[in-house]
Amino acid sequence: MEKLLISACLYGEKCRYDGKDNLLSRLDLLKEKFTLIPICPEVSGGLATPRNPSEIIGKSVVMNNGSDVTAEYKKGAEAALKTALDNGCKVALMKAKSPSCGSGKIYDGTFSKTLVDGDGITARLLKEHGIKVFDETQVSELLEYIKA
Ligand code: SF4
Repeated sequence: MEKLLISACLYGEKCRYDGKDNLLSRLDLLKEKFTLIPICPEVSGGLATPRNPSEIIGKSVVMNNGSDVTAEYKKGAEAALKTALDNGCKVALMKAKSPSCGSGKIYDGTFSKTLVDGDGITARLLKEHGIKVFDETQVSELLEYIKA
């Protein structure tokens, strides 16, 4: 079965910054089609749960208390990439808007819920290595992509 890298919070792990999950309602469907490989880059990068929320500001990732967590985000992205490559994942389903997992749209660094074009640190690294990234609003597109 094709292997799918998936944000661990979408898989039901309580690894979000606030200690909650983002359990995906269509997870059972995905389990029928894929071997799921969950990964939380922020936890892999060494950050605790719960933790302060972070946003990307320029080339840095910064918590809302001013702490620079760029190194942790990069370490987590490298861990996610290694997991994807080690497992032969060609596709990933990553949580939208996250500074790690977000794809296409992320928050603008002002902690005001304002979205701008861009990718999270992990999503960007995965794309740079040829892995096709979808978010949880694109499950149908993901299934179409795999069928094709
Ligand atoms: Fe979910 Fe990704 Fe954030 Fe981890 S880093 S909680 S997997 S969105």
